[in-house]
Amino acid sequence: MTDPEERDGQGRAPVLSEEPLTNSSGAAEVAEVSEVTETDVQEQAPPPGTQPQPSSPAHVSDLDIVKHYFDTACDRLGVPDDVRDVLRTSYRETVVQIPVRFADGKIHVFKGYRVQHNGARGPYKGGLRYHPDVDLDEVRALAMLMTWKTAIAGIPYGGAKGGVNCRSDQLKPEELQAITRSLMDKIDKVLGPNRDIMAPDVGTNAQVMAWLMDEYGKLHGHTPAIVTGKPIPLEGSYGRESATGRGLVYLYREAAPKLGLSPSTTTVVVQGFGNVGSWAARILQQLGVRIIGVSNADGAIRNDDGIDTVKLHEFIEQGGKLTDYEGVDTISPDDLIAIPCDVFVPAALGGMIHEGNADRVQCKVLLEGANSPTTPVADEILREKDVYVIPDVMANAGGVVVSYFEWVQNMQHFRWEEREINDKLGNIMRRAFREVDAVARQKDLCLRDAAYELGIERVIETARTRGYI
Ligand code: NAD
Repeated sequence: MTDPEERDGQGRAPVLSEEPLTNSSGAAEVAEVSEVTETDVQEQAPPPGTQPQPSSPAHVSDLDIVKHYFDTACDRLGVPDDVRDVLRTSYRETVVQIPVRFADGKIHVFKGYRVQHNGARGPYKGGLRYHPDVDLDEVRALAMLMTWKTAIAGIPYGGAKGGVNCRSDQLKPEELQAITRSLMDKIDKVLGPNRDIMAPDVGTNAQVMAWLMDEYGKLHGHTPAIVTGKPIPLEGSYGRESATGRGLVYLYREAAPKLGLSPSTTTVVVQGFGNVGSWAARILQQLGVRIIGVSNADGAIRNDDGIDTVKLHEFIEQGGKLTDYEGVDTISPDDLIAIPCDVFVPAALGGMIHEGNADRVQCKVLLEGANSPTTPVADEILREKDVYVIPDVMANAGGVVVSYFEWVQNMQHFRWEEREINDKLGNIMRRAFREVDAVARQKDLCLRDAAYELGIERVIETARTRGYI
């Protein structure tokens, strides 16, 4: 992760600051589709004794969450059952075995996934996640979410996601590289710069993208547009690393005047101080916003006078533990969600706001950085509490938008300046917000419901025009 003070590969400092707050598939291929299990979208009561802890994810899967929001949108839109069946399932699901011999002399077997949900609007696009909990259902959920997200942002992609069930933080670099190259060797046939383009997600980074690009190049010749989120010297794009956090800030700025918020008086709490959360926090801080609570997997901290998140980020980058940071109070991660604040940014994992803790939320705005952080029951509770939710499917699109810019630059073998990229990102995020907000007002819906309706309608329209459905 690049420190904002650090120089990039070209000797320039990444752009951290914001300008003043003044502006308001369907390709016919032979599909190998494995059976998609219909899941109950109700938030199931967990078995006795396993009630979710307030700081841990809910007992409802990401797939249940995404399908619930999809189904309720289809009900409202009156989408016919046969069309719904096409959109509810994936176009192609590839599952591969990744056997890798480690230095201990033993073969370790991992599972690799690539799910291509829908390609009606363009090549499949979506991240690659390395996490021990990765399974086919989680990848299906994230792939489906990408289909609506790219449609809402209005960029010419379909939706996909990939993953490997490994712990990247506990693997040696050479082991991680071997897993990554082996994955590419097994799935390269379903990828391509005009077919499916991967990007970083939880547990992967620019280095992993570089290995993927190199391995694909061995098989098909130099093809930088095969992945996005690459290192800057390897045809990566300026602004990609900060893009998701920056996109969240653009949406805060769009919503703030409507809600009577101004940066100098806004207080923010960030759950998950990783790529998305730390960039959002640092850029918000530059605007004059006060960050009063932060958490990561190590714990949570609070200071109502404000936490300097630029210094906190430096401290963590240098190996410090969040809870050892000076000048703050260490609090229980369970209590972070209950800090009274203007904006709460969930930027960790899915299902973190659930029926067991939603009533403790004390923010005016929930700005969803993570994918599927809010379960359907929690969403209802937040609605009753009048929390203004800016949903993941729109809010965290900044990453895929700048991935799109990286892909365009790679196709043209051309490079744009970071300022230009951030400006273009702002235009797309603002447009998405205004279009979703217009649907919400016209139909008297919340932003999440309006966003899903807009995304689904756009995908149906292109799939119909192509003759796919
Ligand atoms: P990351 O791995 O860089 O950061 C995740 C952070 O969450 C880490 O700081 C980790 O310590 C923390 N965390 C883990 N468990 C936690 C817990 N129980 N409580 C509090 N914090 C916890 O990942 P990221 O790229 O920042 O992604 C975060 C979320 O945003 C994911 O849901 C991801 O799918 C989503 N997202 C990421 C991007 C992107 O461009 N990176 C784009 C869209 C959506």
